Amino acid sequence: MKRNLKYVLSAVFLLWLVYACRKDERIPETRLPEDVAEMAKWYGRQLLPNDNPQAFANMNKPDWNGTVVKKKGDSTLYTTLILTDAKSTRELQVTYYDGSYIGLVRQYEYVRKDSIAVGTFTINGRMLDIGYFDESNKYTLKAVTGKRNIVLMGTELPVVDVYPPGTGGTGTGGTGTGGTGTGGTGTPPTGTFPIGTGGSVGPSSFNSSNLVNTLGNKPLKEFRDKCTGLQFMWNNYPNNETFGYLTADNQLIMTDVLALDGGQASGTYKYVNPDGTTSYYFTYPDTQGAPAGTYTGIIHSAGKYFIPITASIHTHTPCRQDGTNGVSHNVGADDKAFATSAPGLKHWVIGCGAIGQFNSTSTNFFNILVGDLSTNCSKIN
Ligand SMILES: [Zn+2]
Repeated sequence: MKRNLKYVLSAVFLLWLVYACRKDERIPETRLPEDVAEMAKWYGRQLLPNDNPQAFANMNKPDWNGTVVKKKGDSTLYTTLILTDAKSTRELQVTYYDGSYIGLVRQYEYVRKDSIAVGTFTINGRMLDIGYFDESNKYTLKAVTGKRNIVLMGTELPVVDVYPPGTGGTGTGGTGTGGTGTGGTGTPPTGTFPIGTGGSVGPSSFNSSNLVNTLGNKPLKEFRDKCTGLQFMWNNYPNNETFGYLTADNQLIMTDVLALDGGQASGTYKYVNPDGTTSYYFTYPDTQGAPAGTYTGIIHSAGKYFIPITASIHTHTPCRQDGTNGVSHNVGADDKAFATSAPGLKHWVIGCGAIGQFNSTSTNFFNILVGDLSTNCSKIN
């Protein structure tokens, strides 16, 4: 008897489960306001087929019922929560204006309590720009993706209206920077967004031929504040060359401690995006553990971590003995070769009382800044 009851209860539970699932399925179709349902349909049409469950758009599960609708003038802004986890929140922001939709995805990451990093992506996940909210909720655009790679903005940054997660604010105008016509990220739009272009963000597989040098190791040191990191790299290794990268969200990772006169750096990974642009990552095996910090746009795939980077940085320690400033001689062969194989990165050298940049084409260092590293470090970008 007891046994029978168990079966009956199980059957009742299963029936309830089937009912609950079906009921759940119906809700979005029947309860949405018409205009949100239209927008949701439009969103569905923008998605590019992709079998990888980790692909950008496949991870997004829009909560259409919670869509915030705001009207301003002739345009309507729909803000829909599409992903939330321990580290980040993604919102779909779609503007309806003059008979057509324009949409993008904002990814908010809580870097630390006084700063929220904001990555802006197309619906299918091509990165458009990176910015921050500071402690007073002021937004600053930090970098936009240009034709070839991420382009860092100068210090006089354009101000665009981006709103903290969940507020669904309406902005005014975009910025149209970057030379690719990616347009602005404010709403209503004044630029043209490359809607539906590109595939998932960044590498989803690992190809060793994309390594500029060798596979990296978990960063030796990570610094949210790049100036703290640069001084650490210079001050603590009087007999070694130290090597590291500036991340796309303006943090610093120290990755190698080399011989006094240098050596090969590691982990520089070149990735050609589906749209032909090139992005650079610092790459290392995930068996060594996740990085300590949080990095906008980091990818964990194919047994590797890929941290987006925009510049390489290394120290020229011999100047401590030879009396030069470390960036006054010709660019060495090793440095030149590295810059040739990673032309989309900036390359900085920290010398003695001077810093400078090099590339594959010029014989001399350029953008040389003379003075204390503590003053000049903020100009490294
Ligand atoms: Zn060098």
